[in-house]
Amino acid sequence: MERSGVRILLLDDEPFILKLHAHMLKEMGFVSIRAFESGALALADVDAGHVPDLVLLDLSMPEMDGIEFIRHMVKRSFAGRLILISGEDERLLQTAERLVRAHGIDILGHLAKPVKPAILRGLLDSWEQRTSFTPRGPGKVYSGEELRKAIRNGEIINYYQPKISLQTGDLIGVESLARWQHPADGIIPPARFIGLAEQIGAIDELTGVVFHKALVDMRALEERGLPLPFAVNLAVTTLNSVEFADFAAGETMRLSVSPANVMIEVTESQLIADQRAPLDVLTRLRLMRFKLSIDDFGTGYSSLSQLRNIPFDELKIDQSFVHRASADPAARAMYDASLGLAKQLHIKTVAEGVEDRADLEMVKGSGCDSAQGYFIARPMPASALPGWAEGWRDRAKTLFRA
Ligand code: C2E
Ligand code: CA
Ligand code: CA
Repeated sequence: MERSGVRILLLDDEPFILKLHAHMLKEMGFVSIRAFESGALALADVDAGHVPDLVLLDLSMPEMDGIEFIRHMVKRSFAGRLILISGEDERLLQTAERLVRAHGIDILGHLAKPVKPAILRGLLDSWEQRTSFTPRGPGKVYSGEELRKAIRNGEIINYYQPKISLQTGDLIGVESLARWQHPADGIIPPARFIGLAEQIGAIDELTGVVFHKALVDMRALEERGLPLPFAVNLAVTTLNSVEFADFAAGETMRLSVSPANVMIEVTESQLIADQRAPLDVLTRLRLMRFKLSIDDFGTGYSSLSQLRNIPFDELKIDQSFVHRASADPAARAMYDASLGLAKQLHIKTVAEGVEDRADLEMVKGSGCDSAQGYFIARPMPASALPGWAEGWRDRAKTLFRA
């Protein structure tokens, strides 16, 4: 692709910086440049069809900061590249970089303000040499109508990822993770349809399907001699609908599953972003004996007082602070702080993203209660769980030898 064909989005709250960067890029031969002073405006433009190949993103902005903007782009299955820009804070940049990579977005690099044209040019040149600006392509994009049909046709299925105790190594539960079993395209990950479901107002229906299937699968496993508590992921908007608590209570009763064996996971960033914090619904779910978990912890900047208000049972430390934390002091600091906070609130902790032996040893030694991650098991269909559990018993004996 020619430089003129590369679509660039600039986002920075300082109008002067926007002008400066647009000017630098034009000097380098880029012409398709759209600049915005706020995340909301930029998102509206993306939604209007101007999907960029490259985003130059200022991290510190009032209202929607750069990290939140990234989350919104992830939801839209953004598959372009990113350059992060920040005033001063090198640590914030590093945290953001880790987060972005966890979402599979390609970062060309980060720049400190004031941005030097030579450094920007270097990043863009090396991108051009690597890829000739080939867009990475989001893969096939599905329409709302296709997704609606898929939900009704039962094409949304659940995979399950085991969770183990870090004291004993025992399997103590599973997390349900939605997959779209597409008749032509195979298994499609949630990053490519959850955001779409939210946009087209089908997320509650999808959650209903996932919740129901999880109950049915858990009943079947129990009958095969493997009774397991399980967790489902919920969009905060679903919690805002009063019907959800009744639906969940009705379903668990109908299928004779105790709500105490059902964990409801809500991400920290969604909870913090949603001003109409669904406190009453969460409290009601708790009163019905469901368990509540705060997911992706560390990425939403919640405060102790916000957390104290909501009766959580579990805190899941985001994988970006777990994997390789033993070699990364900034990640380790976030990890330890999250663990300390959970202890103060007397809630259980889960470390996500345990990808290798070093991660496992780190979390075992840290006092965290439980863990999930590729090193233990990848998400799998319910039918694969009994076989995995049998194999794990032997592996756990070696990994957890006293
Ligand atoms: P999540 O709830 O944080 O789930 C963990 C994600 O990390 C899963 O991705 C899982 O496959 C992946 N993962 C697990 N272990 C590791 C590891 O060791 N390393 C790495 N790099 N990744 C690991 P998945 O299945 O693609 O799901 C992505 C997200 O989609 C979930 O993040 C969750 O927020 C959302 N999601 C999944 N199912 C549902 C659903 O039914 N409803 C809603 N609202 N959201 C869902
Ligand atoms: Ca989760
Ligand atoms: Ca998570």
